Amino acid sequence: MSDLLALYHVQELELDIIARTERIKSINAEMAGDAALEEARANFAAAQAAHQDAAKRATEHEHEIRAVVEKRSNSETTLYSGAVTNPKELQDLQMEVEALSRRKLTLDDEMLHLILERDDLGEQLSAVQASLDELTEAREEANIELQEEKDTLTTAVNNMLAERKSQVAEISPDLFRTYIRMRAPKANRPLAALRDNACTSCGIEQNIVVINAISRNDDIVHCQNCGRILLRL
Ligand SMILES: [Zn+2]
Repeated sequence: MSDLLALYHVQELELDIIARTERIKSINAEMAGDAALEEARANFAAAQAAHQDAAKRATEHEHEIRAVVEKRSNSETTLYSGAVTNPKELQDLQMEVEALSRRKLTLDDEMLHLILERDDLGEQLSAVQASLDELTEAREEANIELQEEKDTLTTAVNNMLAERKSQVAEISPDLFRTYIRMRAPKANRPLAALRDNACTSCGIEQNIVVINAISRNDDIVHCQNCGRILLRL
């Protein structure tokens, strides 16, 4: 039965098509989702937000210091202008200048911490950004290779589908229907080659009745054990 050889070729094509299609699916998944890159993006967003927040607090603090300095300068100007002569008012102004100076010392101290925090977070942001850039670049390079592989696979699958179609046309419709029916229960391998009188799929040696039937080549012969259609290659 040359039909069986053609059918065996169809089975091989189908197994190849299935394997290549699985690889295309996993390429698609790999190109769509990259856990390490997603994590790096999330880390970058968090580091960026933390740095922006620290920078904002430092700027606000700087404005506050400037306001205190300006207020003290105005009070000092008034104090030394000679415009105020009332001793109580002069004393109040003097106390205000001193209070503002104390306030500025406190603010300067806090400012130092805010600047250190901001700069530390800035360094962390740079490190996270560098790692994100590296991963992004690696992803892009990998995607170029994956796309090339996918294109090659797609072309091969299309060629094999066309070949399968022409092979199927050579096979008797009854045999092909049997094959289709057996395909799912036999894990896409309804046909098995006979080698050394054994089924190559399940490994079981066949009895003389089966061997002779295969040799006569006049009918479909099933493996005594797994039920697959046997053929000599
Ligand atoms: Zn078998």
